Amino acid sequence: MCIFCEIIKGNIPSKKIYEDDNTLAILDISQATKGHTLILPKKHYANMLEIDDNDLKNVISTAKKVTNMINTAYKPLGFNILNNCGEAAGQTVMHYHVHVIPRYADDKLVLKFEDNSNKFDLDQIAKDITK
Ligand code: 5GP
Ligand code: ZN
Repeated sequence: MCIFCEIIKGNIPSKKIYEDDNTLAILDISQATKGHTLILPKKHYANMLEIDDNDLKNVISTAKKVTNMINTAYKPLGFNILNNCGEAAGQTVMHYHVHVIPRYADDKLVLKFEDNSNKFDLDQIAKDITK
């Protein structure tokens, strides 16, 4: 059973922010920050590797609408708009979704990338990926 498919069918309750034919936006139950919202395609895809291009466009378009809605409501200082792809990357619900996370002063959310550039050869990586 996919919990997001059950939410989309209405079998599990959720706080809906926005809905159209192809997408649904619901408040994330964890509320990493105030207004943290998830954007889901109504059709089930496990992740970014599987989602159909049109549905991906639909999800991103809804993410933009919802970002504007939250911006109007709460005037946050910024947003993190992100997707976790695969368990190793922190994905816990295997139905593709985008997080829209408004950012506030002192919200205590830590999303930090270390600079590991000294460990890698960028020319080689570019060759590996584009060959
Ligand atoms: P992931 O870790 O897969 O990127 O994100 C899954 C998100 O789904 C988590 O932030 C978690 O709080 C949220 N979540 C899990 N179960 C439910 C639920 O039943 N309802 C809602 N609204 N959010 C959920
Ligand atoms: Zn699903």
